[in-house]
Amino acid sequence: MKKILHLVLGIVLFVALSYAIEEIRITMIFYPILLNIAPDIDISFGSHRNFLTHSIAIPIVILAFNWDVFNILCVLAFAFHCLCDVSLRPSKWKGYYTIKFYHHTIFFGAEDKAAGAMTSLWLVVQGILGILLFIFYWMFWI
Ligand SMILES: [Zn+2]
Repeated sequence: MKKILHLVLGIVLFVALSYAIEEIRITMIFYPILLNIAPDIDISFGSHRNFLTHSIAIPIVILAFNWDVFNILCVLAFAFHCLCDVSLRPSKWKGYYTIKFYHHTIFFGAEDKAAGAMTSLWLVVQGILGILLFIFYWMFWI
């Protein structure tokens, strides 16, 4: 997905959340909106869809040290990015589009059709885990 579309969808999501959930103030959503496009920073390093930037691992580590509203929004930003990157036609995904450990495709060969399907599965799992953690936070912590 293009960066501008990630940005627009992130703005829509976080503005809607700030209206829906009283504890999320409008001033708290600026950085999560920017973090929504941050996973694609891996393109600057020559390899798209790094396994670390396209997962919720980094914001979860930060959340573990500082369990608060802002950091749960950051987890949601990474999760939402992953869900937006899911392809409806994953068998078309090869090489550039697959999840990578630096420059190497993690799932099978870079030209294998299964690599696209596994990449979509990876992104869906990251997105769902992030959303479940967000729901857990609001149900049991607030
Ligand atoms: Zn991405």
